[in-house]
Amino acid sequence: MTLPDMTVFADLESNVRGYCRSWPTVFDTASGAWLRDETGREYLDFFAGAGALNYGHNNPVLKQSLLDYIAGDGITHGLDMSTVAKRELLETLRDRILRPRGLDYKVQFPGPTGANAVEAALKLARKVTGRTEILNFTNAFHGMTLGALSVTGNAAKRAGAGVPLQHATSMPFDGYLSGPDDDSFEWMERVLDDASSGLDSPAAVIVETVQGEGGVNIAGVQWLRKLAGLCAAREILLIVDDVQMGCGRTGPFFSFEMAGITPDIVTLSKSIGGYGLPMALVLFKPELDVWKPGEHNGTFRGNNPAFVTARAALEHYWADDALEIATRAKAERIDRALAGMVAAFDGITTRGRGLVHGVVFDDASAAEKVCASAFQRGLLVETSGPEDEVVKLLPPLTISDSELDHGLELLAESVDAVCGGRGR
Ligand code: PMP
Repeated sequence: MTLPDMTVFADLESNVRGYCRSWPTVFDTASGAWLRDETGREYLDFFAGAGALNYGHNNPVLKQSLLDYIAGDGITHGLDMSTVAKRELLETLRDRILRPRGLDYKVQFPGPTGANAVEAALKLARKVTGRTEILNFTNAFHGMTLGALSVTGNAAKRAGAGVPLQHATSMPFDGYLSGPDDDSFEWMERVLDDASSGLDSPAAVIVETVQGEGGVNIAGVQWLRKLAGLCAAREILLIVDDVQMGCGRTGPFFSFEMAGITPDIVTLSKSIGGYGLPMALVLFKPELDVWKPGEHNGTFRGNNPAFVTARAALEHYWADDALEIATRAKAERIDRALAGMVAAFDGITTRGRGLVHGVVFDDASAAEKVCASAFQRGLLVETSGPEDEVVKLLPPLTISDSELDHGLELLAESVDAVCGGRGR
């Protein structure tokens, strides 16, 4: 077999490169849940572009809308000019997503990344309230720009900032102190309501309902409700960062829907563009819309091809609840398979919601070995969590049952290869 030529990557590309180290091959084409490298080897994708490919690679429905748009010389780059593609996206977002859920949100197009949406959300919250402090949670991940890093937990990522990260205070996420059912708001309520606690009154709280990068930590529905109530009672804005868990990853379109809460501000990116094209949105209650024109801007806010595929995705997958129901069924399939895996080995637990699952290894080093072994078997999975101790499963939502079963088998074989000696 010819080996892929990796020379230029090692010679020229910065040391900052990451995923290519876990998956040492040269990918060439992809469709659905599969990628192919240049030697023709196929890999089943349980990573889905870190959540940017919920509808799979080169999804044919979305691809056709994109091809038609390009063939018709549709606007590609549009700053924040009004375009037909943008109008159709906004109308579809309103009619398919916001109105059916009773959500009265204004829509901001920030620069096309999750971090940019988070920056805009933090700026807006500070501008609206006139306060500077933000509360975030342990193990949070919100992006790599300075504002987003300031509300991110991971020490190594924070260290990359090179300047002090300020005006954010970390609070215990659900289960952080003593596992499920702990009352982790005891501390937060206490310091918020005590004028001598040393905590300045915050502008906002930013939270992920499931912490994807932080190790697939799941906020319980009651915990989220309590958080929303606690914020509302103190006029603290609630920002839900749905960059990774939105667009159906946990089942419903928005991950907070199952808690029945309405955040003040929501960030979306990754799969909102549908096709893996860069795009982000910030949604917020109309009374928060205190922006002056151009106060937050960016050259690539108008990635119109992404608007076209975003609209096609909303139109095709969110006209009814079929995708949500299918996601729930697939989630149960994964739950069953992982329960079997956990039962067979010591030192492994699992957790998940919808189509995001974590396989947690007591011996953190095993997780990376499992991912390496999975790669050898043709399965792409990555680690997450503070010690990289969690193998994170993030397949496309459109994956078939048989593909899902195949991937889970490859994962079980990989776990067996790494942890076989520790079997029960
Ligand atoms: N917020 C969350 C919850 C994320 O998972 C990520 C990306 N992993 C980001 C923000 C940052 O998005 P981006 O990498 O597009 O800047």
